[in-house]
Amino acid sequence: MSSQPKGPSVLLRRLREVMAAPHDPQTRLDTIVADIAGNMSAEVCSVYVLRADGMLELYASQGLNSEAVHVSALRLGQGLVGTIAVSARALNLNDAQKHPAFEYLPETGEEIYNAFLGVPILRAGRVLGVLVVQNKSNRVYMDAEVEALETTAMVLGELIATGELEELSSKGVTLDLSRPLTVDGVSLSYGIGLGYVILHEPRVIVTNLFNDKADEEIIRLREALVKVQVSIDLLFQNRNVPIEGEHRDVLEAYRMFAHDRGWNRRMEEAIMNGLTAEAAVEKVQNDNRARMMRQADPYLRERSNDFDDLANRLLRELVGKKHGADATIVEGDHVIVARSMGAAELLDYNSDKLRGLVLEEATPNSHVVIVARALGIPVVGQLADFVSYAEQGNAIIVDGEAGSVSLRPPADIETAYTEKVKFRAGRLKQFEKLRDKPAKTKDGLDINLLMNAGLVMDLKQLESSGAEGVGLFRTELQFMVSSTLPRPGEQEELYRHVLDEAGERPVTFRTLDIGGDKVLPYLKSLQEENPAMGWRALRLSLDRPALLRSQIRALLKASAGRNLRLMAPLVTEVWEINLVRDLIKREVELQTRFGHEMPRTLELGAMLEVPSLLWQLDELMQAVDFISIGSNDLFQFFMASDRGNVNLANRYSSVNKPFLRALKQIIDKGNEHDTPVTLCGEIAGRPLFAMVLLALGFTNISMSPIAIGPVKAMLMALDVGALQKELLPVIEDISEQTTIMELLTDFADKHGIPY
Ligand code: PEP
Ligand code: MG
Repeated sequence: MSSQPKGPSVLLRRLREVMAAPHDPQTRLDTIVADIAGNMSAEVCSVYVLRADGMLELYASQGLNSEAVHVSALRLGQGLVGTIAVSARALNLNDAQKHPAFEYLPETGEEIYNAFLGVPILRAGRVLGVLVVQNKSNRVYMDAEVEALETTAMVLGELIATGELEELSSKGVTLDLSRPLTVDGVSLSYGIGLGYVILHEPRVIVTNLFNDKADEEIIRLREALVKVQVSIDLLFQNRNVPIEGEHRDVLEAYRMFAHDRGWNRRMEEAIMNGLTAEAAVEKVQNDNRARMMRQADPYLRERSNDFDDLANRLLRELVGKKHGADATIVEGDHVIVARSMGAAELLDYNSDKLRGLVLEEATPNSHVVIVARALGIPVVGQLADFVSYAEQGNAIIVDGEAGSVSLRPPADIETAYTEKVKFRAGRLKQFEKLRDKPAKTKDGLDINLLMNAGLVMDLKQLESSGAEGVGLFRTELQFMVSSTLPRPGEQEELYRHVLDEAGERPVTFRTLDIGGDKVLPYLKSLQEENPAMGWRALRLSLDRPALLRSQIRALLKASAGRNLRLMAPLVTEVWEINLVRDLIKREVELQTRFGHEMPRTLELGAMLEVPSLLWQLDELMQAVDFISIGSNDLFQFFMASDRGNVNLANRYSSVNKPFLRALKQIIDKGNEHDTPVTLCGEIAGRPLFAMVLLALGFTNISMSPIAIGPVKAMLMALDVGALQKELLPVIEDISEQTTIMELLTDFADKHGIPY
């Protein structure tokens, strides 16, 4: 072996032959370690592979005692090998035995070796094993040798990923790569979905690892890099409107990285060591990702994500793959796995096959989540790094009840879930039976259950859910999923369609609620310190009335001869809603003059989402025909707790005493003034929360259609009067720390109320 010419590219060429030869897996691995040792003039070369039980098993060795192979194993974090696996970093030592983590395994006979170089075997940033070379002398391995060993480790990463080493494991334990994984996240949309992974941004699988001519590969890399750089620069230039805010930050970061010299140099080095351009991109991306996964600083993590996206662009450029997932390659039912996703992108998938959505980011109020909920798809979110654990086509279960995801589930878990799905289907059947039953509480109170909607396809659920009408139609969703501003004619058509579908049932349209986190791709968005409290919703509509006026016109025309219920989002002071009334009046006059038939009745409401209205309730109730509480926004402003902030998601209970007092105050004032009050935030759709609302005096609540069955089942078993007796005094007594949630579950359990 030592007679061979040296150099990593020679070694890689040799490894290519070994990978292609018809060896059995153990012989292939033994040949590889022997070749590496020979090439690097090392006396030892060993491969440790990470098993599903967290042990790093010695899989092959040139130099250590052969009896130790498939016998010796180290825990993650144990010894030098375990330390490398945990840190995902190389360890280069000239006197290994002096290192505090060194652990002596007598069966290996390694006490005679001093110099030690170990590198992690990575794939998609995950550690799959450790590759080590050792020498008796106290030599120091050069940087170029570390780089070469890392490059070689990529080949082993590919070999492990093929699954052919699985059968060699001493204890029959599966490898970490195919380890079943159950992770807890946050439930964003209820339901349970079983299917196979579709990676929304599919990883480019690099199959061609070794280059024949390094200089040609360097040219390929440079050309691809220029194309990516140009495409990013074009993103800046080809816009009719300036890019502002977060989009600009992201693009600036892309641009900075695309021109980053260090990144280019590391990729070119990897090519010089024998890799193809795409394998070099992957290698550097792997190193970055492994580092990123250990990054605690959220800002740096975010920037590393940008880097990762950029590397994906470059990979796609090199292998000529288009952006976006091709879902047709995975058979069976689909579960989409993504870091993050836009609402419109979700709609690109075939919803018939869609059984679930897993998002690393996103919160209950993200728009993609609101759309998924409207489609009745279970969603689990806030699962850091999940994308790197999933492979295209892996079996997966999304549990939107418990907020967990099981990847590559073992058979018993799969069976348990199949049973659970059957059970749920049975419950849904029961809810269906309730569909035409009146929503009346046990003590005879009639409740009006309405549904939230925003897209045409939602309307199908009006019939199936048994909702009595649409309590909130979010008109901006049509604007958000469209790539250009919907023309007035299109808007009118949509609204007419909605009213046709609803028939006799009332629909409450909300005027455009854009700005804040609801950014329209074709409208200039402002860079604001606090967008949720910024120039958004009604504020924007009143300052730029053309859009609002054309929407009102479309709504008036669409509801000719019928009832029109209209409400404005984020009203902050009473005079604002008066301005809307004036604007509607002017439009009605104008349209009547043109001879258009106008709605038979017209009611105007205000959404109560800003706490300032709590001190204008008398005036407000007199100024409007109805009130709809947007509890998502009201809660965030009331508690000063960003609705989209993952770190605050579970910090405050939505049923805390001060908030419930505020809700009670609103409903009491509504009764006093005879002004109907509805609540249409997400809390209305969760049976226990809805139970509180009824006890506070609400009789109109609007929720996602899927929630209507469970909420109806709850209320039919509920004696509101009995709950009021227990709950209301507790809310009044602020000096005692009572967990309202516990009170509710105890009450429900005691009275056999399903929730
Ligand atoms: C709310 O804020 O509760 C609401 C219903 O509106 P949105 O979630 O669209 O802001
Ligand atoms: Mg709102």
